[in-house]
Formats: sequence, C-alpha cells, structure tokens
Amino acid sequence: MIKQNVERLLRELPDGVLLEGAAKSRSAEEIDEAVKAGLAIIGENYVQEAEKVIPEIERDVRWHFIGHLQKNKVKKAVRIFDTIETIDSLELAEEIDKACLRLDKDMTVYIEINSGREKQKFGVFPEHAESLIRDVSKLKKLRIEGLMTIGPLSGASERARAYFRETKNIFDSIKELNVKNVSMKYLSMGMSGTYKVAIEEGANIVRLGAILFGKR
Ligand SMILES: *Cc1c(COP(=O)(O)O)cnc(C)c1O
Repeated sequence: MIKQNVERLLRELPDGVLLEGAAKSRSAEEIDEAVKAGLAIIGENYVQEAEKVIPEIERDVRWHFIGHLQKNKVKKAVRIFDTIETIDSLELAEEIDKACLRLDKDMTVYIEINSGREKQKFGVFPEHAESLIRDVSKLKKLRIEGLMTIGPLSGASERARAYFRETKNIFDSIKELNVKNVSMKYLSMGMSGTYKVAIEEGANIVRLGAILFGKR
C-alpha cells in the first residue's frame, strides 16, 4: 500500500511541488518501502527515532527535521539531518550554528511560522518573522532557504487556507528584501488533510504522513 500511495502522490502533485514523507513512528521497513517507490525527502519529528532509522535506509534521501528541537539534541540533530525546518528562536539557531562550526558543516534551515498565533505551539509569530530572519542570517553556518508552518490542526481543510496564505505572504515579502544569506526557495506547508489547499496557496513542499503510510 505504501508503494502505491507514494507513486500516486508523486504522479498527482503538480510540477515543482516536492513530496516529503512525515515518518514519525514509522519503521525502517515502512520508510524503505516509500523510498524505493521514489520518496526522496523524509521528515522526522524526533532525533532519537531518526537515529535508529537513518542507518537502515541505504538510498540517498534527504532527512529533514520537522519536530521541536530541544537544546540537548542539537548536536546529534546537526550530525544526522540535512535540513532543520523548525527554527523559531535566535537561541536555537545560535546553538545549531555552534554545533555546525564544530563539525564544519553548513546547515540548511527553514523558519517555522506560528501562523495560527497559538501560544502553546511552536514557531515564530508572523509579525516577528522578519527580525528573526535578519538575526539568523548573520550566523556563520546556517542558510535560510524557506519557511515552514503547521497551522491550527482542527477543523476543515478550508480553515487552514488563511494560515497558509499568511505564511506565503511572509515568504514573498522576505524574498523581496533580498537579505544576504537568505533565499526563499521552499515553502513547507500542508499535511494529509490540507495539502491541496496548501498547494493552492503556494506550498512547494508538502509533508504527508497518514496518506502515505496509513493511519497511525
Ligand atoms: C505528523 C506531521 C505531518 C504529517 O501529518 P499527516 O496528517 O499524518 O499527514 C506533517 N508535519 C508535521 C510537523 C508532523 O508532525
């Protein structure tokens, strides 16, 4: 089933929209099936889980971190991930930069936008995105290449549209600023229930879990 799901999504997504498999709690076997079917980007929410599955996947795929990164996991995360999608504070970015300097590794990062302005959730509020991006852009080893948002999870997919649209507006306005070290290439938004709306609003990476791997 996973194979068919990945193949179908890869066929259905418009040109230029990348498929990321959100693989939390999935086994290496499940991820491998998806990768063999053509999935090229894997999103993981937990460093420990990723550490277990990454060595098991032999093909060359990109590993993205999409969870909340705790300070004490930064060193490991920097070693195993290609992209960290969830930068939402200068403190976290500085911690990552330090770890990257030690390993002499450049890290691609996205800024996570709390598009629903939900106090209990992670991500920078829309109105603080620009100043965070300007600060992070000055760090040595980080390259900001996009934005990521989750948005409020409850309700119909149409409800998500306004949050995706606001994130796309930030994406466009940051692009116009031409900040050094910042290139707005990727807009990661949309999950199984909302990816169609997200694509209509400009997403070019969709993070899909249930629709690829089945319900958890
Ligand atoms: C789980 C998860 C997804 C995928 O959600 P589905 O509804 O299973 O498609 C996407 N992004 C993040 C950050 C997630 O944690």
